[in-house]
Amino acid sequence: MSCAAGTIAAAGACLGYAVRGRSSTFLAPSMYRGDPSRSELAITFDDGPSESTPALLRILEEHRVRATFFMCGANVRRLPGVAREVLAAGHEIGNHSDTHARFDFKSPDFIYRELALAQDAIHAATGLQPGLFRAPYGVRWFGLRHAQRRLGLTGVMWTVIGRDWSLPGGRVAQRLIGGAANGGVLCLHDGRTIHAAPDIRNTIDAVRAALPRLLDKGFEFRTAGDLFYAPQAYAAQS
Ligand SMILES: [Zn+2]
Repeated sequence: MSCAAGTIAAAGACLGYAVRGRSSTFLAPSMYRGDPSRSELAITFDDGPSESTPALLRILEEHRVRATFFMCGANVRRLPGVAREVLAAGHEIGNHSDTHARFDFKSPDFIYRELALAQDAIHAATGLQPGLFRAPYGVRWFGLRHAQRRLGLTGVMWTVIGRDWSLPGGRVAQRLIGGAANGGVLCLHDGRTIHAAPDIRNTIDAVRAALPRLLDKGFEFRTAGDLFYAPQAYAAQS
């Protein structure tokens, strides 16, 4: 998308795109798609860990699928054992901020602290320093680029969002199956921001329905990190 137009309306549209556009790298570097010539997908879960994450891990294990979990620091402090369970099951862990705050109109210090506290919580629970970050609500803001650079984090957006926080599982599964394409990144949620004991039945139903269908279609699942390190993976264009 070009942001060269000179009107105020166009400038507003461009800022909106820069903040939330899945392929924008204006406010921070991010990736959103792997190699389009490979029938590979990444399935990603945000807002965990939650009390229901282990139920999801069992479904992933049944299908031998590795996933990426973008965790909030506050949730990791509440459930460090579940964070370790995710890692022990062979999945990838990324940073999804500490308290799931929206970053627009926040200071660079606030944004840095949100990322750093989550990084600390994940490290304390698992011994791991994540290299991937997903912005809460997909919102990037001024200061995020610097915070990511200081902490060695690459942003990850998505190609398909399940809307599993509001749609029934069957509808979410349809969105995933219909939207999946080579190199795609599917975005779901094993928590609901930082609420304790969230109801994630929609997510679990969707994963149970969609995974066998996507595997039947010939897709192989990679972690987001593995998907992006494939030869033709590319960063989003600003
Ligand atoms: Zn989130």
